[in-house]
Amino acid sequence: MTSLRLYNTLTRQKEELRPLQPGAVRIYSCGPTVYRYVHVGNLRTFMLPDLLRRSLEYLGYHTEQVMNITDVGHLTDDTFDRGEDKMLVSARLESKSPEEIAAYYTDAFMQDAALVNIRAADHYPRATRYIPKMIDLISILIAKGHAYEVGGTVYYDIASFPSYGRLSRNTTDKLLTGSRGEVDPRKRHPGDFTLWKAAGEHRLQVWPSPWGDGFPGWHIECSAMSMSLLGDRFDIHTGGADNVFPHHEAELAQSEGATGRRVVNYWMHGGLLLLAGSRMAKSAGNFFRATELVDQGFDPLAFRYLALQAKYRTKLNFSTEGLAGADRALKQLRERVADWAARGDAGPDAHEAEAYEARFRAAIADDLDLPAAMALVAEVVRADLTATAKAQLLRRWDAVLGLDLDRAAPRRELPGGAAALLAARDKARAAKDFQASDRLRDELAAMGVAVTDTAEGQRWRVASRK
Ligand code: AMP
Ligand code: ZN
Repeated sequence: MTSLRLYNTLTRQKEELRPLQPGAVRIYSCGPTVYRYVHVGNLRTFMLPDLLRRSLEYLGYHTEQVMNITDVGHLTDDTFDRGEDKMLVSARLESKSPEEIAAYYTDAFMQDAALVNIRAADHYPRATRYIPKMIDLISILIAKGHAYEVGGTVYYDIASFPSYGRLSRNTTDKLLTGSRGEVDPRKRHPGDFTLWKAAGEHRLQVWPSPWGDGFPGWHIECSAMSMSLLGDRFDIHTGGADNVFPHHEAELAQSEGATGRRVVNYWMHGGLLLLAGSRMAKSAGNFFRATELVDQGFDPLAFRYLALQAKYRTKLNFSTEGLAGADRALKQLRERVADWAARGDAGPDAHEAEAYEARFRAAIADDLDLPAAMALVAEVVRADLTATAKAQLLRRWDAVLGLDLDRAAPRRELPGGAAALLAARDKARAAKDFQASDRLRDELAAMGVAVTDTAEGQRWRVASRK
């Protein structure tokens, strides 16, 4: 089993991954809030644990992933998104229940994630099913002096947790309140955050609790669901860069405040996706759904290809031109793989192929360096390897890349005898016998096989026949 180094937001450095249970890595990922469609920015964040799991499994680890579905907390929001299904808008105007809305957008999320080959998590806990666990956790926090109740609302007392701010490198005196609008004067510190909120007049989703009817804060959901499913110690927690504060800072304070010890070993955060320099966000309306990319004629995996070109931690600019380039590159790559596979020349060049394989493994083990892995893909394309070896390498790596490299547009079969002529021409070209190579090209053309020479060798296409 190859060991990996991962960048831990908590320590701000790459650390060797040491799973709690050797060979098995348990991961909790912040999932979507299901009251609107997810956009490709959200998908980039969800792609991080997908790449993490694929890489871990490629390197011989077993993985288990939990991704929560936040189906409480934002469901009465009444702003409608661009691109939203008109039927749904009217359904909402006809006051669909929050449960129906959540079910609809959960389905849409699953479909969008599948479009970009994000593999399903092992568990998708829904926040509304974990209310009793959240209430238990809040009660423990009150009992341990980490939380206090005022008028049916429970706040976390950040002063009770001295390392509060460590994850996000915030100090208590410069902490943002994490909430919009006026600060509740009953708070002990403006940075104290809500664990349980007393039901207001307009809430649809309300539960009974020891502090009266109300609903949970967003942060407590993830503490309760992660520890319920993965226990009070697990390996990796993922999310987007914007989750570091306040969401994960609060989660850490809750989970560790309640258990009295370290719960998460590695915190990983994905960089944000930008559109024209600003963060892609539902509220700003500058977002794309994966299905919109499809409507524009792109392969949704072109988005994945684009995302793989950047380090997961850096910001990435999304543009239609960038996507179009990725779309072309992806299609070309698939055609090449199909070409190589069809050529079926002499067996693999075991030795050289192994060297590429080792470099690929080293790249993904180095904090999931997918850009380096993609550079290696480009190197293999140009490499002096047999077509068989190239096809084998790329198809194998696709277990991590998830680009469906085996899915080239259907090609016409070579007519009988053409493969031998192509191989002979390849040899003639290598020997710089251009007379022979031209003659062979004419022979192939007469059979309906058009050959062109490229920097990476000859490429062929079977012309359509009447
Ligand atoms: P939400 O459904 O708003 O809770 O967002 C789901 C996830 O998407 C969160 O983990 C966010 O960190 C992430 N996210 C939101 N906007 C972006 C963006 N522009 N780029 C990357 N990730 C994002
Ligand atoms: Zn979360």
